[in-house]
Amino acid sequence: MTRKEVRAALPRWRRAVHAHAEEGWTEFWTTACVAQTLQGLGLTPRLGREVLDAGARMGLPAPDVRAAARRRAAAEGADATLLARMGDATGVVVEVGPVDQPVVLALRFDMDALPLQESREPEHVPAAGGYASRHAGQCHACGHDAHVTLGLGLAACLQAEGAPALRQRVRLIFQPAEEGVRGAACLRAHVTGVPWFLAVHLGLGQPSGTLITGATGLMASTKFDALFTGQAAHAGKAPEQGRDALKGAAAALMGLHDLPRYGSGENRVHVGCLRGGTARNVVADRALLQGETRAVTCDMAEDLFARAREVLAGAAAMYGLGCRIDLAGQCPAADSDAAFAAQLARWAREVRLENGCAAFARVGERVSMGASDDAATFMRAVQQQGGQAAYAILGSSGPAGHHDPRFDLDESVLWPGVLWLESVCRHLA
Ligand SMILES: [Zn+2]
Ligand SMILES: [Zn+2]
Repeated sequence: MTRKEVRAALPRWRRAVHAHAEEGWTEFWTTACVAQTLQGLGLTPRLGREVLDAGARMGLPAPDVRAAARRRAAAEGADATLLARMGDATGVVVEVGPVDQPVVLALRFDMDALPLQESREPEHVPAAGGYASRHAGQCHACGHDAHVTLGLGLAACLQAEGAPALRQRVRLIFQPAEEGVRGAACLRAHVTGVPWFLAVHLGLGQPSGTLITGATGLMASTKFDALFTGQAAHAGKAPEQGRDALKGAAAALMGLHDLPRYGSGENRVHVGCLRGGTARNVVADRALLQGETRAVTCDMAEDLFARAREVLAGAAAMYGLGCRIDLAGQCPAADSDAAFAAQLARWAREVRLENGCAAFARVGERVSMGASDDAATFMRAVQQQGGQAAYAILGSSGPAGHHDPRFDLDESVLWPGVLWLESVCRHLA
């Protein structure tokens, strides 16, 4: 491809991925699409079972949900050979650069969508343009369709006609299941021994034309499912013979939200889902509570989750219930390295569009995140081995915030984003 063709392909790639929105761990069509595009660029992507530690996957949907998504991907034209290679797992890893040289930079691009029904209102641009999600109840409302596009655009620019070869290698990680911080842990091995790591997220409140190269305060987060089990009984004739799982779960919900906040930094507790019981006149024998804790340091996160477990166990004991706690996702806290963020910002200020204008109207080095992203898993792994990591935000103005059915992105920010990522690769590798 020529660079001009790469630029023209960006909205096409983004819209195709957007239309095939797939929730975490079901990104079969997206995985095949990414791998096929990379192969078309002359690269050798590895995918699914070939790249991830399947045992470390957290928050997996039920096997029948994943199998149905895989069949749907095949019906929608995903390459059969690629589907066979990925097995029951999603995700792609690819390297660009000479095979006998070390990998000096790893970049993370997440590719999952959300369990959310996309807006069909005529003012919603993807709906009007005919590329809204064709999958009921799933949509790209966090911009990960843009992240996939940035990764493909970067690979295409590095491989473009007449482009100089890299002296060392870069590794692109197309990660499944970022939502719920579930996916990075099973791909952690791909940053072992890599000295530089960069992740980029679109939007996050920053307007188009802005690039922030080093977010700070990525919060540690633990997602958990607590299943309360009791004893069913007739609610009129013999309620004393029952053990009410619903009451235990409700008490736990109140107790969790009543946990004291820490004075030493930002932290959160939230229960987003409570399901239990079968009928009005039956003592409920099962109730499921889905919650999360977040904290700005790993120590605080550990303490907070330990207290949450005490509340869950205490509520279960109060009503004579069993309580099983399953981890559904987990990531550490992380900060971008200031020196790396400053370097990334200097390179960003030098990036020019074809017309000679600066690619970004404003380049900042730091902003507080106030949320979680499991890119933090990669960041900490790289930092703990002496490397440097950064989490960048590529501004994108839009009609609604993230995780809103009306979320949309500004496609014009994709090309400057790709140019900056290419420049980072050419400086470091
Ligand atoms: Zn999100
Ligand atoms: Zn996101």
